Amino acid sequence: MKFKVNSDTCIGCGACAAICDEVFEISDDGYAVAKDVIIDDSTKEDAISAMEGCPTGAIIEDKKEENQ
Ligand code: SF4
Repeated sequence: MKFKVNSDTCIGCGACAAICDEVFEISDDGYAVAKDVIIDDSTKEDAISAMEGCPTGAIIEDKKEENQ
């Protein structure tokens, strides 16, 4: 499971990084990015919470990565 952030809708609030900094970080341009990391089960729960908590729905699951 991987995630990606839609930079067009991210407002850079930082909530995702606060909830799950293993996966999300705020980049130099002020918007969130999803790190390219292996996500274990406990991290996955936090990452999903971050995705669900994003106020603009900018975080989506990266389905392309699912079968790799
Ligand atoms: S919670 Fe959503 S809007 Fe806020 S920084 Fe993360 S991706 Fe961007």
